[in-house]
Amino acid sequence: MANSINHPTISSDEIIRPTRLEINLKILSDNFNKIKTAVAPAKVMPILKANAYGHGLVKVAQLMQELKSDCIGVAVLEEGILLREQGITIPILVLGGIWGNQIPLFLKHDLTITASSADKLSQIDEFASQMKTKAKVHLKIDTGMERIGVHYYTAEKFLESAVKCKNIRIDGIYSHLANSELLDTTYTLTQLERFQEVLRFFEKHSIEMPLRHIANSGAILQTPEAYLDMVRPGIMLYGVYPSNETAKTIFVQPALTWKSLVVYFKIIKAGHPVGYGLTWKPKQDIRAVTVPLGYGDGYFRSMSHKAEVLIRGKRYPVVGSISMDQIIVNIENDSAFNGDEVILIGQDGSNKISVEELADWAGTIPYEILTNINTRVPRLYLE
Ligand SMILES: *Cc1c(COP(=O)(O)O)cnc(C)c1O
Repeated sequence: MANSINHPTISSDEIIRPTRLEINLKILSDNFNKIKTAVAPAKVMPILKANAYGHGLVKVAQLMQELKSDCIGVAVLEEGILLREQGITIPILVLGGIWGNQIPLFLKHDLTITASSADKLSQIDEFASQMKTKAKVHLKIDTGMERIGVHYYTAEKFLESAVKCKNIRIDGIYSHLANSELLDTTYTLTQLERFQEVLRFFEKHSIEMPLRHIANSGAILQTPEAYLDMVRPGIMLYGVYPSNETAKTIFVQPALTWKSLVVYFKIIKAGHPVGYGLTWKPKQDIRAVTVPLGYGDGYFRSMSHKAEVLIRGKRYPVVGSISMDQIIVNIENDSAFNGDEVILIGQDGSNKISVEELADWAGTIPYEILTNINTRVPRLYLE
């Protein structure tokens, strides 16, 4: 069993916080391999942005490299630089928009740039020329999301200028889907069609086709015609489906368990209020335990009066307002002892609490639950 708080590695005896995330690397590997098999011969670019959806950027990147992933996708430059500094050598595409001053750092660390306008292209070309290197880029086409990228209806001019840049190597071209998780794939197919139309440029001018990619988890699950040359799974790599309605055509399992321990036990007398704002009180005497985590760890305060946890395999409600660092759990007439395990996300016997449930309680989506588990929660990796 090895573990680390994100990248600095500490040994398991050094974990002193009872609250921790356990990440099962075997499950992550299985998820990756299932996706790979399902989409073959298309390549796979695992998406590791936002601390690998909370699972720990460096460790997940190391695993993907061990599994011979073709490449990795991250959102921001710093994530890419950190991975290079930690010895990741496979291609890394930074998916987000850039500003000019960042370009030299991309080139220095051999990171692949998303080029999302003609202006950016010429800046990249210029810097690469100064640094006597060739910039690796993927061109970004906006097929109907209005985030970054050149609109599909003006892409031809963009591609014409791209192929003229002497100091740029066009490794890929991509677009992003706005609602591929819906069962109704009409808009996804429209976006795909617009993308295919843009891609005709390469055939028309007999220019070698760069790597084409558009599919995120929703499309990997529901729209095989969108696989093209490569797919970009994010949330499903971690074993979570993009929404409740998405068809679960590939079986993946959650890789993460969020745990803590009981650190305090007491009886709360009938009518005695609990927590900040005194928002809840028991009708009769109850037994309650305190667990050392809170919204400062990403256990959202908006889940107050809804959240449940597992102790000894049984569900119990969190009572009162969720504090920054502590929650109080009503165990009624049952018993629990200091040091008993508390599951916030995960399975205990036949009972299970899912990321989706937390998302419902918090009024958000599973993505936000995962990416908000704070870095102060130690990550423990199970081999
Ligand atoms: C986040 C992201 C993905 C992965 O999305 P999931 O829905 O998590 O699979 C893929 N491509 C881009 C450009 C992204 O920003």
